Amino acid sequence: MVLVEPKDDFVHNVAALRALVDPSWLERIYLPYTGLLGHGRVIRDRAVKADADRVVLASGAELFPDYLVLATGSGYPFPAKSNVPRTQAAHAMVRGTHTALAAADRVLLLGAGPVGIELAGEIKAVWPGKQVTLVDVVGDVLGERYRQDLKAELRRQLTGLGVELLLGSALRDEPPTAAGELGTFGVTTQAGAEVTADIWFRCYGVAPVSDYLAGGLAAARRGDGFVEVTPELLVAGQDRVFALGDVSAADQNKGAGAAGRQAPVVAGNIRALIIGAGELTRYQPPPTAIIVPVGPDGGAGQRPDNADLVPAEVVAQLKGRDMMVQRFSELLGMSTTARN
Ligand SMILES: Cc1cc2nc3c(=O)[nH]c(=O)nc-3n(C[C@H](O)[C@H](O)[C@H](O)COP(=O)(O)OP(=O)(O)OC[C@H]3O[C@@H](n4cnc5c(N)ncnc54)[C@H](O)[C@@H]3O)c2cc1C
Repeated sequence: MVLVEPKDDFVHNVAALRALVDPSWLERIYLPYTGLLGHGRVIRDRAVKADADRVVLASGAELFPDYLVLATGSGYPFPAKSNVPRTQAAHAMVRGTHTALAAADRVLLLGAGPVGIELAGEIKAVWPGKQVTLVDVVGDVLGERYRQDLKAELRRQLTGLGVELLLGSALRDEPPTAAGELGTFGVTTQAGAEVTADIWFRCYGVAPVSDYLAGGLAAARRGDGFVEVTPELLVAGQDRVFALGDVSAADQNKGAGAAGRQAPVVAGNIRALIIGAGELTRYQPPPTAIIVPVGPDGGAGQRPDNADLVPAEVVAQLKGRDMMVQRFSELLGMSTTARN
């Protein structure tokens, strides 16, 4: 068993926005791989070309796996994610942006999806006096997929914190400064609203990481970059290559939760293929569910089995307070106390 990963540490992106407003979280969300694999090894490298039989790494090394799992996830604009492989450099980038954000009186967030909402809540929790403006081309928060009452509740909480919502209108032009850099600028929405801010962040733009796929695997790469899979999570047209998580088209609901439900299906199916045990297990995408924190104590969510919204207190328990750090630390074979 070989895990190829270019980063020094596992990056628990779920808590990345908390670490931006409070960099003391950084130590808790970069988790070493040392305790992960009882039987296997981690190679610090990057796959630059993969077909069904052979994986070429950036170092020039080649791997010839019997079974291959594509789990290269997705990219997203900083600060939600970064592709800085060295932990020290990634920490420095977050600390530098924290300093810039701390000095800004007015913050513009482009994109009112889960990341934009969560970042607005995090900023207001630490700096209640900062002006925060959330702009989205779509006419409501959270896009198209979620319940109206959930959107209304999140709008209520955000406006209650003083976050200004400018929805249903794109900016005429992008801000002239780079995202995350301190520098006062003015922008105008298509609808004519003017915003002056000192810093801005891009809160949209998930991009599946699948550009290294070649040969038969490239054929399964959709136009939008997601990898087509069968219900058994085999890459379309393949019998020994699987894909899961953000890079896979298996589930419209991307998330650590979905990836975590797909992982045992893939592991079980590889085991079944090795021992020649009958039918493979199919992955059943669950109905839409989401929780969106608004700061450590706020937020709301929806679950398929409940007509009521997930209340703020439950969102805080599930995510907002601990940001799922304990759960992922245990998954990586360590406890948070051992690290701190
Ligand atoms: C701010 C934020 C908050 C979130 N909150 C939640 C939440 O509350 N609940 C939830 O369920 N989900 C949440 N998510 C989504 C969740 O983080 C992702 O869905 C999850 O991380 C997907 O896991 P993955 O392993 O598929 O991909 P990733 O986490 O993207 O991991 C992919 C890994 O592959 C590595 N890699 C990339 N390219 C290569 C290559 N060529 N060769 C080798 N390795 C490579 C990367 O370095 C990375 O370590 C959140 C995401 C963000 C950004």
